[in-house]
Amino acid sequence: LAAKRRMRVRSSASRKDHAIVKEFREGCAAPLPVLRRVAEGIAADMRKGLNSDGGHSLPMIPTFVNTLPSGNEEGLFYALDLGGTNFRVLRVQLGGKDGRVIDTEFEQVAIPQDLMFGTSEELFDFIASRLGTFVQKESGKFHLPSGRLREIGFTFSFPVKQTSIDSGILIKWTKGFAVSGTAGKDVVSCLNQAMDRQGLDMRVSALVNDTVGTLAGARYWDDDAMVAVILGTGTNACYVERMDCIPKLQGHLPANGDMIINTEWGAFHDSLPLTEFDKALDAASINPGEQILEKTISGMYLGEVARRVFLKMAESGAMFGGSAPDKLSTPFVLRTPHLCAMQQDQSSDLKLVGKILSDTLGVDDSSLGIREMAIDICDAIVKRGGRLAGAGIVGILQKMDADSKGTIFRKRTVVAMDGGLYENYPHYRKYIKEAVIGLLGSEISKNVVIEHSKDGSGIGAALLAAANSKYAREF
Ligand code: BGC
Ligand code: MG
Repeated sequence: LAAKRRMRVRSSASRKDHAIVKEFREGCAAPLPVLRRVAEGIAADMRKGLNSDGGHSLPMIPTFVNTLPSGNEEGLFYALDLGGTNFRVLRVQLGGKDGRVIDTEFEQVAIPQDLMFGTSEELFDFIASRLGTFVQKESGKFHLPSGRLREIGFTFSFPVKQTSIDSGILIKWTKGFAVSGTAGKDVVSCLNQAMDRQGLDMRVSALVNDTVGTLAGARYWDDDAMVAVILGTGTNACYVERMDCIPKLQGHLPANGDMIINTEWGAFHDSLPLTEFDKALDAASINPGEQILEKTISGMYLGEVARRVFLKMAESGAMFGGSAPDKLSTPFVLRTPHLCAMQQDQSSDLKLVGKILSDTLGVDDSSLGIREMAIDICDAIVKRGGRLAGAGIVGILQKMDADSKGTIFRKRTVVAMDGGLYENYPHYRKYIKEAVIGLLGSEISKNVVIEHSKDGSGIGAALLAAANSKYAREF
């Protein structure tokens, strides 16, 4: 055993490793000219997507939400939130103008891995059964007038072609979901059928994307909320658009007023700074060629990009005598929280970085040099992500400002943010802010308030269910 221990190769950095990291950093760089191009590209694709369907990188989905919460909503409403990692059910008792949110209760469960690869029925049965259990446990704080059906806002965080406020067809799965038999179907019917199978009598009053729920939730408290962005497992943004700026809807709906547009910006792909590791990640993914911005900036993928860089360092020969540990070869073992923890390690010997490299990637006995390089790699990825997200926000705001004769930048405009990546990663938030200030200048960016709207999407969905309630006239 002693001999074995002595033979263990210490993982220390070689010149080759340094060269790999340097090249990677350069490949990820997103200086202002690149950000400007991305912001302009997003604004241009937004216009194309609003003009007609199909063929552009941005779907620009009309949500049929044309009124945001006013604060007058009243009664008991439910929300179901199927996101990327978790599934939540909640209820909220709304008290109208003076009461606002009287009470909320929620339950959250991780989505079991096998359901992400199963059938549509299995997934929706799981959701409906959880909802059923939750509904049965209603406490005295919540009140539903007798004879009234329970109503739900369904937050479904995937691209859906809405056909009305309470129906929509799944375009495709994202974020690693590969459930069979849902694409092309109305997800509200899928849920209704599953509720029938559970003997649950509820009505889906609103089907909303998580960005839309977040915007509704933010607007409930703040009239200046105009844009919402999710940075979590996946990423997306929505915003308030003028009806007369949506040519593809002309003739279908009243020409005045506003409608929230779900951009599905995760699908954007032009002029992004991509490395060989991003391209390999995309090629190996279950949706190659799709969701390229999402794969570059969202929580599901950041750790995987980093793992691929480490793997190359290991395979280049210097670090472990040419053979990589098994863990290091396992896709998705390194997660965004690991990157965040490594970047926050303040100890002089980067102890925590060493522990993560060893526990998670099987890289034992890392030298300080390797640990420092690990932080450099995380930083390059997170900086690129944060800066590109910032450029996306600016692209949307610039498009809105140009079409509203300067009213976006001349007054206070709130961008509501949510998602685990945004919430838990301070470096990421800092890089978003730097990019926004860099692109807009310090004067204009003072009017742009980027604000965390925690768990707004669930309450927002309940609020939209209230606005679209079958009993709405009673308010
Ligand atoms: C989905 C969006 C969603 C976003 C954030 C993306 O993968 O396509 O619909 O809003 O993730 O959850
Ligand atoms: Mg979510």
